[in-house]
Amino acid sequence: MALDAGGRYQLQGYVDRLARAGDGAYEIHDYKTSSSLPSDGDLRRDRQLTVYQMAVQRRFPDARAIRLVWHYLAFDLERISARTPAEIESHRRAAMRLIDTIEAAADFPPKVSALCRWCEYRDICPAQKDLLEAELPPRGAHAAGRAPDPQARPKAAPSLDRAEQIELFD
Ligand code: SF4
Repeated sequence: MALDAGGRYQLQGYVDRLARAGDGAYEIHDYKTSSSLPSDGDLRRDRQLTVYQMAVQRRFPDARAIRLVWHYLAFDLERISARTPAEIESHRRAAMRLIDTIEAAADFPPKVSALCRWCEYRDICPAQKDLLEAELPPRGAHAAGRAPDPQARPKAAPSLDRAEQIELFD
């Protein structure tokens, strides 16, 4: 969806589930696997579902009421919130400012996290390339006639189940 009338500020996202409740309200459901619960303030500031609400309002102009519903699976808990038009407008403007900031950036410092283990850019990342180098077999080992030591190969990222993978992105 575009955030502005001219279509310069574009976002793409995927709603986990969109439902029509018995009272006619549209409900935007999001499933979280995180091991901590957000505060009410965190939910009020949540940009993700606010942007989803903008998209649903545009796609379904008949939507008179829209509820935002988070499912915290580890706690078997549902949290529900709603947005005022002023809050939506504030999020829209903030998202456009953020896009401007990102597009104007000339410096991209590495941001090390658990996701580095799956990153395709570790070999050129200033924060990770030395670590990766240490995981590789010594240079020339193969050329010197020694068989590559399978134990010396870089370790594959440990396999995680889907819930653990999703949690890394929360
Ligand atoms: S390895 Fe990838 S994800 Fe980690 S800091 Fe470097 S660029 Fe970022």
